[in-house]
Amino acid sequence: MASDFLEQSLNSLKGVGPKRAQQLAVLGLSSVSDLLWFFPRKYEDRRHLSKISDLIPGRASTVLATVADIERKRLPRPGLELVVATLIDETGEIAATWFNRRGLEYILKPGTRAALFGTASMRAGTLEMSNPEFEIADADQLPAQFARIIPIYPATAGLTNRWLRTLVSEALQEALPLVVETLPPHLTKKRKLPSLQEAIRAMHEPHDGREWKVARRRLAYEELLMLQVGMALRREKFKQHKTDIKINANGPVYQGFLKTLPFSLTGSQQGALAEIFSDLAAGQPMSRLLQGDVGSGKTLVAMGLAAAAADAQIQTAILAPTEVLADQLYGETKKRLAPLGVESVILKGGQSTSERAAALAAAESGEALVVVGTQALLEPTVRYKNLGVVVIDEQHRFGVSQRAAVIDRTPAPHLLMMSATPIPRTLTLCLFGDLDVSLLREKPAGRIKNETRVIDGKKMRTLLQFIVDEVKAGGKAYWVCPRVEGDESGEIASVEKRYAFVEKHLGKVGVGLIHGRMKSEEKENVLSRFRCGDIRMLVGTTVVEVGVDVPDASVIVIESPERFGLSQLHQLRGRVGRGGRRGVCVLLLTDASGETPARLQTMLDTDDGFAIAEADLQQRGTGELSGAAQHGVAEFLVADLQKDVALLEEAREDAKEWILKDRDLQDAPLFKGNLITHFGEMLGIG
Ligand code: ADP
Ligand code: MG
Repeated sequence: MASDFLEQSLNSLKGVGPKRAQQLAVLGLSSVSDLLWFFPRKYEDRRHLSKISDLIPGRASTVLATVADIERKRLPRPGLELVVATLIDETGEIAATWFNRRGLEYILKPGTRAALFGTASMRAGTLEMSNPEFEIADADQLPAQFARIIPIYPATAGLTNRWLRTLVSEALQEALPLVVETLPPHLTKKRKLPSLQEAIRAMHEPHDGREWKVARRRLAYEELLMLQVGMALRREKFKQHKTDIKINANGPVYQGFLKTLPFSLTGSQQGALAEIFSDLAAGQPMSRLLQGDVGSGKTLVAMGLAAAAADAQIQTAILAPTEVLADQLYGETKKRLAPLGVESVILKGGQSTSERAAALAAAESGEALVVVGTQALLEPTVRYKNLGVVVIDEQHRFGVSQRAAVIDRTPAPHLLMMSATPIPRTLTLCLFGDLDVSLLREKPAGRIKNETRVIDGKKMRTLLQFIVDEVKAGGKAYWVCPRVEGDESGEIASVEKRYAFVEKHLGKVGVGLIHGRMKSEEKENVLSRFRCGDIRMLVGTTVVEVGVDVPDASVIVIESPERFGLSQLHQLRGRVGRGGRRGVCVLLLTDASGETPARLQTMLDTDDGFAIAEADLQQRGTGELSGAAQHGVAEFLVADLQKDVALLEEAREDAKEWILKDRDLQDAPLFKGNLITHFGEMLGIG
């Protein structure tokens, strides 16, 4: 079959022997089809001819000139030779130099006309191009092959770009006609997209910028569509479960919950609860993500849901990623639900056998309507009388497979996932496109906004004094360092060194150390000492980042904030000011230039986690964003979540429509195959 050629190893191509094949493998290229999808890193536009007198140092340009003189020079280093040519046009002259190009003087003989492409620089008063690309020109015209947009591939040692270019270009000629269309015709038509063949060609050999853009758009669209179709399929599959678990907002426990709150719900909280109740009435299991900044009051929404479930005698399991967080949630259920007659239990490590047995028995008998704990709650050893709701806090710490484990229970429970890491919408769609999303954008009223300051090491004494004063006034402080060991240059204080320093100066306030290398009991221990006020200052790594809630913590010092992403800084900042006291976040710069880096300015400008997440995405790209890397969705070949926002929305819309009409993707069998290869595992479909 003809298309077998696409799968053939690169050995089979002219000019590729075992050595070359090995070098290509380093670039991840083993088959002919790999080569088609090996897109240029950038392009050189050689179409526009400049006169020598118009050349601007530092800018890549094309000139057409005549060789006036060429000579070979030996350089002091053995084996190194330089070819130096002088070329002229009617406006001036330019020097061109090449290293070790044997025989060049016979090709570019004086009098030869040549097209050159390179970046000119000024050297001792003369313009010079070092190692320019060239081609002999016969007439007063740029050679057609030369005056193009030239693809630049990510070359490696041993393989020059020029060689790769030829290889790809030859492979294209033979292989491109064998490429089979993947998108269904109704979508290429709807979105006015070029064919796959045309798109691949234009990525490698675009005639102009517009053609390239269209090609890129088509390929990015397909990648995004694939993920969105996967999401839509997963959602479909989930929604096929029927549920007769009926929960509504009219029962006495839920109404009592609302009445006994010492404050009123924020508009966002009301909105989220309304969305939840509407899901619960739909006869299908709920599958909702509740996203909200730290302190936006997600826990309370979960409590409301548990209260309403309790009205129907339905059990709620609340999962936390760590025991510390489970303890906090358990405290909350006791505070909000116990007074209404709803019993809750906690299951965690370190419980005595009898405590654990009692909790298990209460879950099994249904006496406990709320069961709090870590993910062990979903293991078969934990039996429920009537489990109907599962809440997962800080869901980004749980994997997709754990989510699947929840969904696959029978009867399928209603699922509420909560995340305190606001992420950009593009990322939400790619990671959680199968979920319904509620946002808590509004913070509870009366909260005093945290203050953020940027200082450098020169203010160290003032900072230390400030912490002492703060502690005297009833506050507590965190001091966060970027990593456990100091880096090679030694400019980043290691946590331990910093701990010793702080201990020396502030020992009297009681200082503890916490980092990821400690045993979990040690960590719990120091945290609980901090919580109860035994120690009033905690020096540590970002282990304090997620969910730790110590209401009277009022200061957080973040050392070398340049090292952190904005979202992470924001997350850390959210650790303070959670009680009555206003929180202060001090960004302690490594660099003592006294200037606030532009990147950190965002931290001073806004307190909105979603806005910060967007800024983070724009600054650092998806790779660095939490969640993206670990889920692998940032690894699009062409699509770019920074740029392709609108395209993603289109792909999402199209995916939904397509699935409704053609759930088996009969329209596009190849697309379906690719989908399963790429995302089958991640999506739990096959
Ligand atoms: P999150 O889990 O979203 O970080 P929490 O649910 O822990 O936030 O809420 C943070 C604090 O705000 C808690 O002390 C909580 O009691 C309080 N809170 C929640 N909702 C409100 C509200 N509507 N009005 C006032 N305070 C609220
Ligand atoms: Mg929380």
